Amino acid sequence: MTTPRRRLVVIGAGAAGTMAAIFAAAGGAETVLLERTKDAGRKILVSGGGRCNVLPMQLDETRFVTDSSVNTLRRIVRSWPLAEQRAFFENELGIPLVDEPESLKTFPASHRARDVRDGLLALAVRNGVTLRMETQVRDVVPVDQSWRIDLHDGESITADAVILACGGLSVPNTGSDGAGLDITRALGHTMHETYPALTPLLDQSGAFASLSGVSLTVTLTARAGARTATATGGFLFTHRGYSGPSVLDISHVFTRRGEAGAAPGRLLVKWTALDDAQWESALKPQGPQGARTVLATLREELPDRLAMVLMRIATVEPMRTLAELRRDERLRLIETLVRGVLPWSGDEGYQKAEVTGGGVSLADIDPRTMESRRHPGLYLCGELLDAFGPIGGYNFLWAWATGRAAGSGAASQR
Ligand SMILES: Cc1cc2nc3c(=O)[nH]c(=O)nc-3n(C[C@H](O)[C@H](O)[C@H](O)COP(=O)(O)OP(=O)(O)OC[C@H]3O[C@@H](n4cnc5c(N)ncnc54)[C@H](O)[C@@H]3O)c2cc1C
Repeated sequence: MTTPRRRLVVIGAGAAGTMAAIFAAAGGAETVLLERTKDAGRKILVSGGGRCNVLPMQLDETRFVTDSSVNTLRRIVRSWPLAEQRAFFENELGIPLVDEPESLKTFPASHRARDVRDGLLALAVRNGVTLRMETQVRDVVPVDQSWRIDLHDGESITADAVILACGGLSVPNTGSDGAGLDITRALGHTMHETYPALTPLLDQSGAFASLSGVSLTVTLTARAGARTATATGGFLFTHRGYSGPSVLDISHVFTRRGEAGAAPGRLLVKWTALDDAQWESALKPQGPQGARTVLATLREELPDRLAMVLMRIATVEPMRTLAELRRDERLRLIETLVRGVLPWSGDEGYQKAEVTGGGVSLADIDPRTMESRRHPGLYLCGELLDAFGPIGGYNFLWAWATGRAAGSGAASQR
């Protein structure tokens, strides 16, 4: 007599859930993948500006953020090394990848996010996964040794195990509205307070209002209470404030409102790669160079319009020549260029956040299988867990690694 196959339900056909379903079915489980939207994988489709930054080119584990154990996080990340993830995409999914060395990002060679989403769903189906779209889960209830999955339309499905991959709270119109967080909370898991991460910042001061659309590479340092983060990368003035990878990467320091509390937080910007000594030397009049204007010197390193605004902030006449520049003016200008204070008044929240910070504590998870330590037979993966990484493919890497571990783990446990 053959033993019946283990029946698994995966909830959420995003990055983590689809990967989980692929590995669950490959592991021999009878796998059903439930998805509330009609098309699935919507975050994959909008990712990387429609190009899907599928993985980082190199991995720096220290850049992940969690309030749980860093060791547990690293164990999970190392469970599917970057080189093996690349090989999976290229060999198993048949999606060639290309690196973008200037940003350290990896993309599908086609530069089409749709190829990644479609390729994952197609492999799931080839492995025998049953896809059910427009199927919204309301609750997940442990019943004896199995699970009951209650749908919004009143139907219930039973399963030997459940993989919860509903995502977090970011960009709700992609399908993730926090349902997975509510379900895990109700099942008694330890939750770290959630907050929007990788989200643009707002500025109502008007200091840089004229610069909307200007972009450059900067180094930002954010501080709020004991929290601090530094990021070097692209920076964009928007009509509402600031965006770009450097801004998104430090935004979590300010969005953790609960903790930062009354501390408003301070944002400092180093506008160019030049440090104090290098600006000192660039702004010193040397021979015939003395007739050169300060503005012309700044324009060599900065976009024109920004150079003008920074001179105004430092209260230096734009047409001053290097020979005319007084010492106090030079020092004020260098302070503005190297440690400028960037006013900000809020953030774009979950509507624009690329990911959700906080979530289910990693202490509640077996890092080998992603099985809940509170409820055997329940597996958790992706954004609903308490971890996120910076811009650059880190968040998909997390979704792929946790999804694969959950799928394999759920299929193999008895
Ligand atoms: C604009 C944008 C760009 C991004 N670009 C990148 C990038 O280039 N590289 C990168 O690494 N990361 C990127 N990210 C982050 C990345 O998309 C996420 O980290 C990742 O998608 C999280 O995967 P997930 O499967 O956990 O959640 P999701 O992708 O959010 O998937 C959750 C799925 O569950 C479904 N679901 C939710 N509730 C229910 C329910 N009750 N019943 C049934 N189904 C449900 C949802 O519809 C959804 O399909 C980007 C995010 C955004 C918003």
